[in-house]
Amino acid sequence: MTHMIVPFFIMYQGCPNRCTFCNVHQIAGYDNESVTEKSFREKVHRYLSQAKRKPDRVQIAFYGGNFIGMEKERQAELLKYAQTFIQHGQVHDIRISIRPDKIDRDRLELLKCFGVTTVEIGAQSFVDEVLILARRGHSSSDIINTVNTLREWGFKTGIHIMLGLPGDNRSGFEYTIRETIALKPDMVRIHPTIVFQGTGLAKLFIQGAYTPLSISEAVDMCKYALAGFADAGIPVIRLGLQTNREMETEGSIIAGPYHPAFRSLVEESLFLDMASSLLTEEEVRGKEIIFSLPLKDVSSFRGQRNRNLQLLKNTYRLAGLTVKVAHGREDGAVFMTVEDRTWKIHKFRKPERIYGNTLLHP
Ligand code: SF4
Repeated sequence: MTHMIVPFFIMYQGCPNRCTFCNVHQIAGYDNESVTEKSFREKVHRYLSQAKRKPDRVQIAFYGGNFIGMEKERQAELLKYAQTFIQHGQVHDIRISIRPDKIDRDRLELLKCFGVTTVEIGAQSFVDEVLILARRGHSSSDIINTVNTLREWGFKTGIHIMLGLPGDNRSGFEYTIRETIALKPDMVRIHPTIVFQGTGLAKLFIQGAYTPLSISEAVDMCKYALAGFADAGIPVIRLGLQTNREMETEGSIIAGPYHPAFRSLVEESLFLDMASSLLTEEEVRGKEIIFSLPLKDVSSFRGQRNRNLQLLKNTYRLAGLTVKVAHGREDGAVFMTVEDRTWKIHKFRKPERIYGNTLLHP
């Protein structure tokens, strides 16, 4: 199923204050012009015409601000632009992002009647002290009320959370994950805190009052988060920021665990853990090991520049390590064959022995 999102950035509109970490200009990249009917139409047509094949689902999204905090007239104007495409069958529905502020009935009705189906809520943390330090201007109970209200009105909900915010720590982040899971959103996005220029956080960092997470700390915490959300059956639709040219410009990012392929780093680390768990099930020293896994996972399994393979080979003193594509094997599983024995492991699960060896030549 292919899913296209045509994003529009509303550039802080509807935000009652500026959160300490936020620089929407960096997130939006070049795409930060004020939206007019003409620019809106052109952009949607451009996305539709540039698609390599017809997507199964097309959504128009309004990000980078607090959609329901805007003047009602402006909301209706933007929603009308989008609705024209829905009426012509070119776009299926609309998603918006909001802050967890109180939403009155009129605004909910407006969203419903113009075809908004998905509302993403910037929660960032469920630790109230962290929300205060981030200058969010809402509490954790506001998040809970907003998500529940939206669900009662039949919207799909997404929750955005962050790690590494000022005043937060690992146990605070784990608490945020538990609270997010308890709310049963339809999806989540996870963003490590990055110090962007022009933000309150940048000032704190320069004053020495804020220490960002390292990449390895962020990767480790995100692995924990992925495990929790996988167990709860909640998809993580984004892990790390979407890279753009602005972000990559020198001086845009002052500090923090930024990596253009952050999710890949987390996936690689997960595969390293899985392979290590398998290898500890056997006496593997000096032996030839074969790992088999689906093609789409091979590159993450190997790691950047085969880093994972080198690490595994050296740590476990293997005579040889071969990675094969396991055609038609279970999605997400890694198989290990050593001599005539085969083991398999799924993400976030324990290894299990498979009897009968069918994987020596997958
Ligand atoms: S509410 Fe969202 S868009 Fe507005 S300042 Fe805060 S983080 Fe940025």
